[in-house]
Amino acid sequence: MRVLIVEDEERLAQALCQIMGEQKYAAEAVYDGKDGLDYALSGQYDVIVLDVMLPKMNGFEVVRELRARKVATPVLLLTAKDDVTDKVNGLDCGADDYMTKPFSPEELLARVRALSRRQGDVVLEEMAFGDLTLNLSTHILTRGAKSVNLGFKEFEVLRLLMANPRAIVPKEDMITKVWGTESGAEDNNVEAYVSFLRKKFFFLGSKASIGTVRKVGYRLEEGEQ
Ligand code: CA
Repeated sequence: MRVLIVEDEERLAQALCQIMGEQKYAAEAVYDGKDGLDYALSGQYDVIVLDVMLPKMNGFEVVRELRARKVATPVLLLTAKDDVTDKVNGLDCGADDYMTKPFSPEELLARVRALSRRQGDVVLEEMAFGDLTLNLSTHILTRGAKSVNLGFKEFEVLRLLMANPRAIVPKEDMITKVWGTESGAEDNNVEAYVSFLRKKFFFLGSKASIGTVRKVGYRLEEGEQ
């Protein structure tokens, strides 16, 4: 397993490398956010251990940039304080797990192992419904030879529908899962994105459609009957 450690406290970074080395993991350390991003973009790591407070770019910015560039390597964020805001920020910007300093080596290794397994589990690259295929890493929706890019919210809405094929997905569930309970998003946000998706289905010439179940929510329909 290859682990990238991004930590500006050099002694801690070296200690982490040593702990990883004892497990026969190949660990490399870099000491600021910009180097962290450059190394991480190589996509050659199984797990990235990323400090939040870093020179040049902070940990949140690094994760956000990685995710924007479609690098899905699991990220474990390290932060000095047990701050809920940090945790929420970290998970929002695309980190996979979060650990507060100080921590024990055992705890770190357990988290790193769990994340590397999680990556191993991600065999699901695509979801399909009817004549449509949704690529989960590129967010491209395809039907036959035609394809179209989905925006992030469109992608999240469609993924939720595809994960519950033919079942009614209530609007409240969409708001909670796609926008979050604190977002202030309303039914008309959902309606807008469903209508964007319908236009894209139409553009692709798909037989599938998103049916409205009045006062409840939406469901995918194959539309061949
Ligand atoms: Ca630091």
